Amino acid sequence: MGLFSKDIKTKDDLFVHTLRDIYYAEQQITKAMPKMIDKATNPSLKQALERHATETEGQIRRLEQVFEQHGQAVKGVTCEAIDGILKEAEHLMGDVADPEVRDAAMLASAQAVEHYEITRYGTLATWAEELGRPDCASLLRQNLAEEEKMDESLTALAKSSVNRQAA
Ligand code: FE
Ligand code: FE
Ligand code: FE
Repeated sequence: MGLFSKDIKTKDDLFVHTLRDIYYAEQQITKAMPKMIDKATNPSLKQALERHATETEGQIRRLEQVFEQHGQAVKGVTCEAIDGILKEAEHLMGDVADPEVRDAAMLASAQAVEHYEITRYGTLATWAEELGRPDCASLLRQNLAEEEKMDESLTALAKSSVNRQAA
């Protein structure tokens, strides 16, 4: 927290810090996804995760573009929130033996990840506009739209097959 008050003085500092936070988060998500894909039993869930894993790589490229356009080095900073969400997901998946119940747990964990990303990208896009960077805002909104779409797909899955199978 010392880092927070000491190094972040301006809105621009805050924007760059948060950009680094989501950059780190996307990288941790990329590392966690193969394990989730591997453990997913429901074919629709597996497919949604696979598609989003590819999308996530594109999101990382867009973030690198935002850093460059904003004249900042491409750099991540530890996001304790995503570390916690992913750790929780791993524990939950590891504990559930029934594959259908595990799918439901995975789906819920994946939605927690998407919701974290949605809040960050929403904030970052708004700040980018305030800072006079509509070019950066547009890239951030593209990522936001993909996260929202993934969240909607997961909700649709939760309402259909995955949770009904688990019940
Ligand atoms: Fe993402
Ligand atoms: Fe964070
Ligand atoms: Fe995502």
